[in-house]
Amino acid sequence: MGDSKTVHSPLLTYFSMLSLLSLCPPFVILLWYTMVHADGSVLQTWGYLRENGLQGFVNIWPKPTAIAWKMIFCYGAFEAALQLLLPGKRVEGPISPAGNIPVYKANGMAAYGVTLITYIGLWWFGIFNPSIVYDHLGEIYSALVVGSFIFCIFLYIKGHIAPSSADSGSCGNLIIDFYWGMELYPRIGKNFDIKVFTNCRFGMMSWAVLPLTYCIKQYETYGEVADSMLVSTALTLIYVTKFFWWEAGYWNTMDIAHDRAGFYICWGCLVWVPSIYTSPGMYLVNHPVNLGAKLAVYILVAGILCIYINYDCDRQRQEFRRTSGKCLVWGKAPSKIVASYTTEKGETKTSLLLTSGWWGLARHFHYVPEISAAFFWTVPALFSHFLPYFYVIFLIILLFDRAKRDDDRCKSKYGKYWKLYCEKVPYRVIPGIY
Ligand code: NDP
Repeated sequence: MGDSKTVHSPLLTYFSMLSLLSLCPPFVILLWYTMVHADGSVLQTWGYLRENGLQGFVNIWPKPTAIAWKMIFCYGAFEAALQLLLPGKRVEGPISPAGNIPVYKANGMAAYGVTLITYIGLWWFGIFNPSIVYDHLGEIYSALVVGSFIFCIFLYIKGHIAPSSADSGSCGNLIIDFYWGMELYPRIGKNFDIKVFTNCRFGMMSWAVLPLTYCIKQYETYGEVADSMLVSTALTLIYVTKFFWWEAGYWNTMDIAHDRAGFYICWGCLVWVPSIYTSPGMYLVNHPVNLGAKLAVYILVAGILCIYINYDCDRQRQEFRRTSGKCLVWGKAPSKIVASYTTEKGETKTSLLLTSGWWGLARHFHYVPEISAAFFWTVPALFSHFLPYFYVIFLIILLFDRAKRDDDRCKSKYGKYWKLYCEKVPYRVIPGIY
């Protein structure tokens, strides 16, 4: 058994897992409906549902159409082809609980560049109009909800009958296996890494492609792109560019190194990221707020600063680990804890824990600029509706829960060394507060 499940299962009851499994799909559709057809007003959607009951909900839910499936298939196949075919440096991931070292091809930035140039090129030369994506967004989400659920069933079956490595296994409970996943590093063949595809090339890539779609839709509807849309899209694109720039670093994070491929991470990246994460831009399409140059620049600069700090936190930790602590952190030799732990095979290994720099402020300080950046690409929508801020609120809950999960996992991995870290750096996320 990998660590992700042993940490999660006591924390999340059956009930909460089943609730998330059943509530997330309708929520995606209701959010899309409210943003696109109900002026972003939760009250308007609520009023419609109260008036029309279950039938109203059935009316709202778009059927997955052939054109929606076609667009998803073309996008997915294109991204899969780029993942397989583009050249990239050979990169090793962190050693897994079963002692494996996954090997990747680092071609994320190239795939990102090719994707955006192709998408804008298709529009520019009149071959494909991205507005069509916006016009069929509900059908696309509906198809993704169903298709990704089926894909998670495939992952569950694959985990049982054909796992790619020893980093897999069942906890004996179908719901938990389906929800948290069976395999840590599932692959098709030797080279096609499924989590790189779902998390990075499908999910994260959609977080750049859809905001561009929203800009183009607003341009085609109103003849111009409002500064609010420009600021929100610019910040999102800077964030996603940072992600692909640092994609090989992402392969060392919890999503890849600790969370198994199941509904939680894969369905989340295939459906939740393209819908909920892109929702501020989805709202702005029909609400072209004009901020004025001064306010737009302030928001842009504040957002870029947050994205930079978030990047620098991740970079600092990874540079520190890569050089085995032989680097400078904020201009000084880093302070550290040499923590030993035992792998599933019973081998004793050591890891270094950084206790200075950003990692000396709080144990998960990097979540503060992550949440703040999300606030800054949402605030161009101003405050007439609450719903554009849903992603920020969701992120706060996700990351505070994640900080707790990570602390629990590290406590069980490092024991007394983690206790020492907690004594040196007592705050979990916000220095001086929490
Ligand atoms: P990370 O995996 O990057 O960091 C946590 C891990 O780092 C721990 O599990 C531990 O792993 C190691 N670690 C912990 N403390 C230290 C230390 N002091 N020194 C060295 N190593 C340490 O966290 P996340 O995956 O949560 O975050 C990665 C990035 O992704 C962040 O920028 C975050 O903001 C972003 N993110 C964004 C989300 C979104 O939905 N927008 C969701 C989640 C993350 P080990 O076992 O190796 O010791």
